[in-house]
Amino acid sequence: MENLSNIGTIKDILLKNGFSFSKSLGQNFLINPTVCPRMAELSTADDETGVLEIGPGIGVLTNELAKIAKKIVAVELDKRLIPVLGQTLGEYDNVKIINGDVMKIDLKSLIEQEFGNMRVVVCANLPYYITSPVIMRLLEENLPVSAITVMVQKEAGQRICAKVGTRSSGALTVAVNYYSKPSMLFEVSAGSFMPAPKVDSCVIRMDIGDNPTVEVKDRASFLKIVKSAFGQRRKTLPNALSAGLGISKQSVSEILNKSQVPLNSRAEQLTMEQFGVIADNYYTFGKE
Ligand code: SAM
Repeated sequence: MENLSNIGTIKDILLKNGFSFSKSLGQNFLINPTVCPRMAELSTADDETGVLEIGPGIGVLTNELAKIAKKIVAVELDKRLIPVLGQTLGEYDNVKIINGDVMKIDLKSLIEQEFGNMRVVVCANLPYYITSPVIMRLLEENLPVSAITVMVQKEAGQRICAKVGTRSSGALTVAVNYYSKPSMLFEVSAGSFMPAPKVDSCVIRMDIGDNPTVEVKDRASFLKIVKSAFGQRRKTLPNALSAGLGISKQSVSEILNKSQVPLNSRAEQLTMEQFGVIADNYYTFGKE
């Protein structure tokens, strides 16, 4: 097997196949040979694990995952890459490539069909134009997945891994923390990719437990409160929530008072538990 992370090999493969990068598909391929083995190892995949990969590109990460995991299913949108992947990963019988859009494919059925009772993890160098929607989709659909290890833009990774209740946190921080425990694994410089993006990247892992980190009456209300609270993050909660939820400031104040949350708080100061109590009181507001 050729060393797929070698820049010469990659250029050769791309040239042979007449491949040109698509900016709109977020095609920045890894050329730093140390990154993929590290990512594969930290994904927690082992010889009993099935791995769902998103956007294999020419298969640099897939190649490393195939060495350590039981089975890899990689979903790639760009059909020009399917024959290339056939060449680069041909020697592995535990890799299946699917030509499809990760935002449209039925992931629950795919995981059931392809992995059966195996433990499943996700590992991917994500196309950055859909970072948040992909992460939220993977988390919201309650897929039988125990960890999600992804390369994202450094800023997005820092936001996701920020501590809830601090200025660096945002709606994505709280939403991700509801479903999982995120952690920053390592940073990757822009020069590790071809073509080099404008920003640095990082690899994060979200470990998913059996239950959400905070019990709430209605998940949709919780996510709506989080989104509204951060919708106008500079404003105090009565203003932000009134605008985001489309209810009067008076009603929001009643909900906050019942939740024992000071009216002058801002979204970035709240704990997971406070978001949970506000969401529960919003859900039952007017029903009791
Ligand atoms: N894994 C490769 C690597 O690390 O070198 C490529 C990563 S590149 C950042 C993102 C990959 O995702 C590209 O191969 C791109 O074609 C693919 N992609 C873009 N949008 C996609 C989508 N909606 N569904 C599946 N794959 C997608």
